[in-house]
Amino acid sequence: MRRSQAWRSTAGRWVHRTARVDEGGARCATRSADGTLVRMTAPIDPAVPPSGTGCTDCDAVGGWWVHLRRCAACGHVGCCDSSPAQHASAHFRTTGHPVVQSFEPGEEWFWDYAEQVPLAGPPLAPPTSRPDDQAVPGPRGRVPADWRAHIH
Ligand SMILES: [Zn+2]
Ligand SMILES: [Zn+2]
Repeated sequence: MRRSQAWRSTAGRWVHRTARVDEGGARCATRSADGTLVRMTAPIDPAVPPSGTGCTDCDAVGGWWVHLRRCAACGHVGCCDSSPAQHASAHFRTTGHPVVQSFEPGEEWFWDYAEQVPLAGPPLAPPTSRPDDQAVPGPRGRVPADWRAHIH
């Protein structure tokens, strides 16, 4: 697994540099002066606040989730791949926004769905997590008693 640690702002956009990008991943990359491939496909907008305190798509249909992920490009809050509906990765597939940050209290990691790699990223606009008193799984009142049978 490749890790990408270095972030920089290029023409006002946050991009991450990878020391090596495989054939498929290089399609949207440019090569910088020092020969490092710079991916331009990981849009992060640190100024955009999160869409809310729960999964936007679950809230729309009365669903529930296990953990929450925040899209680093547009602020969409979606549920993780353990959740019944997996709305965060669905958001990536429908919008092409590949980078999320965990929206769980105390967690700062980023994940790139396109490259399937963990990332380091810049501080995003607050709040950077759901409320501490929100239930897991949550939200309260919408989680069925047999929830363990529904997670992935
Ligand atoms: Zn959801
Ligand atoms: Zn998004």
